Amino acid sequence: MPGRPDHVTGTPTAVVGVPVPGLPAPRAELRRPSEADWQVVLDAIGAASSVDLVAHVMPDGDALGSALAVGLALRQRGVDVRVSFGDDPQVVPASLSFLPGQELIVPVADVPERPELMISFDVSDARRLGLLLDKALAARELVVVDHHTSNAGFGTRSLIDPLAPATAVLVDELLRRLGVPLDEPIATCLYAGVASDTGSFRYSATTPATHEFASRLLAAGVRHDTISRQLWDTQSFGFLKVLAAALERAELEPAAAGGRGLVWTWVPWADLLAHGVPPEQIEGLIDVVRKAAEAEVALVLKEDPDGSLRGSSRAKGAVDVAAACGALGGGGHAYAAGFTSHLGVPATVAAFRSALDALPVPPTD
Ligand code: 5GP
Ligand code: MN
Repeated sequence: MPGRPDHVTGTPTAVVGVPVPGLPAPRAELRRPSEADWQVVLDAIGAASSVDLVAHVMPDGDALGSALAVGLALRQRGVDVRVSFGDDPQVVPASLSFLPGQELIVPVADVPERPELMISFDVSDARRLGLLLDKALAARELVVVDHHTSNAGFGTRSLIDPLAPATAVLVDELLRRLGVPLDEPIATCLYAGVASDTGSFRYSATTPATHEFASRLLAAGVRHDTISRQLWDTQSFGFLKVLAAALERAELEPAAAGGRGLVWTWVPWADLLAHGVPPEQIEGLIDVVRKAAEAEVALVLKEDPDGSLRGSSRAKGAVDVAAACGALGGGGHAYAAGFTSHLGVPATVAAFRSALDALPVPPTD
């Protein structure tokens, strides 16, 4: 979106006044971090002898890259630091296996019951802490670092910037304020974050400042070519089979979303089992399904072993899928959001369609 302000400003800026054509105005109470917000967090980090850095469940490049970047930086400063996320089993997706600093990752059991300072990265909602939720709520300080518009700020402190294209951008600012230079391992973690969340610098939240950030990361030695191949262009053969079945199952509903169209499909757990595909490998399936030109909104439902469905949805700018997913108990961004449902496939799709129908949709041209 051209004309968006730089992500680094000295004063708090209300998000109101950055309208996106066709989308409802961002929530008025969301403000970018102020100088005072940054200072409080720097003080908390400075005072802590032990810090727990956590990503959301089934972490993506932004969540885990951000946590590991701060982990590497604090380790340099001699802080006792752990990185974790609340999944069991706790699996780093194969597409993120290149991330440096993974020796800092510990299982949920190794996170203290009452952490001194916990910092969450890219966690839009406390429930996305998964098995770490209780420990997070018991932490003496819980700092929420995030960029989701739907984040209500569940910690004791927040650094939430809904204009930042990635949490990694906020981490860059945090490291600058901590006086930690971008070395190659830290820059690689941050590149994974910003490249993931901007779709390789294609999405509208990408600004000149985002490219300037990428420029500094490349100057620090990031191998963007090998990272990109691992992030976007490497899949198992089994994934191709799961993808084929999911595309075969896809439905187009032209009347949904005020006549702008919905394309949706789902992946049964049995397909993953049959082809030996771990669940984190199908996170990119939505990027294929959303290519359908006939649909404003795309939805992929991914079945878990207990029969629950993880929904991933995307929109092209006319519909706020964070609001639609919010109606199903989830959230995210206007263009990319998710939820978990226990209703089964037909009722979940029906509920999602109703949520879309309840949203304002600008008339088609
Ligand atoms: P994805 O479809 O890639 O899993 O998620 C898209 C966006 O929606 C991400 O920014 C993610 O953080 C957010 N998201 C996904 N699932 C949920 C959910 O259940 N609750 C909330 N609040 N956000 C979600
Ligand atoms: Mn993110």
